[in-house]
Amino acid sequence: MHTGLFHSIDFNAEGRQDGFLSIPFSIDRSPYFQVKIPIVRIKNGKGPRLLLMAGNHGDEYEGNIALSRLCRRLDAASIRGEITILPFANAPAVFAAKRRSPLDGGNLNRLFPGDPAGKPSARLAHFLEHELLPRHDVFMDLHSGGTSMAHMPIALMERQGNTEHFTRMLDLMHALGLPFGFIAENGPDAPTSLGAAGRAGVIGLSGEFGGGGTVTPLSMRSTMAALDNLLHALGIVSSPVLLDRFEVAEMRLLALTSHDQAIYATRPGWYEPARDVGEEVRAGDVAGWYHDFTRLDAAEDVLHFSCDGVVLSQRLHTMCEAGDCLVQVAVPYS
Ligand SMILES: [Zn+2]
Repeated sequence: MHTGLFHSIDFNAEGRQDGFLSIPFSIDRSPYFQVKIPIVRIKNGKGPRLLLMAGNHGDEYEGNIALSRLCRRLDAASIRGEITILPFANAPAVFAAKRRSPLDGGNLNRLFPGDPAGKPSARLAHFLEHELLPRHDVFMDLHSGGTSMAHMPIALMERQGNTEHFTRMLDLMHALGLPFGFIAENGPDAPTSLGAAGRAGVIGLSGEFGGGGTVTPLSMRSTMAALDNLLHALGIVSSPVLLDRFEVAEMRLLALTSHDQAIYATRPGWYEPARDVGEEVRAGDVAGWYHDFTRLDAAEDVLHFSCDGVVLSQRLHTMCEAGDCLVQVAVPYS
């Protein structure tokens, strides 16, 4: 009664079920409180089994909005196979507009494989990796840069699994039809949802679609195009659900392979970027300027990129502390 995670979803049942993942967690204002995480499950016969998730981080809205819309538009008759949708996975974080859950400080995407006896975010991570992911063939987890960061819209996967698994994952990432794709090297023990997918033997995909604690017409369109293309590529639907038509771009692959591709703050200061996310840059180009408002007499530092590539993400909050990532450049994948 006071531990674990429970739900009423029957994964063998045909048709649509709307329910909650419930996590008991006693708090000051509610002694018998349960975290309530909405879950939609739709099954129509045998077919591909897809798990869609947003709200891994609570201040990344494209996925919340697109999956909410998808939940409203889909029923059993409109699909073939199985879809499970978690539009607000770490719900306490989403409803507080925070990256991490205010209930337990949990950053869900650093908590896998989770802990069944831990705090709510860790219990959720354990349930996802050990119970929910293994019931599916393909998993897509939707992200953005969050409140403090702008991110170029980009499909994302981690190098997980054997060659056959990796190839299938790469093919499906291309099928998302976004202009850019990114392959991360986080290793088989990664505490991320994609690490969890790899350990569960599931094809894991993700995407970063925007940032700044908001959405834009471009970030929403990219998200919805990727979801329509994924549903189509898997054979779950035959016509687009979220957009009027399928929008498919040729994908260019990028990678982060070295710490030199990022510029970090090493002291408190104020960051002025010179370039926008998505721009092509060359080694030696000015990346921006770093100011010290407490030293009006001191010239600003000029920051330079150290490699050729595309600006992948950039800090949006001007005021910085040592350790803040200011800008990242992705290089062509080889
Ligand atoms: Zn995120």
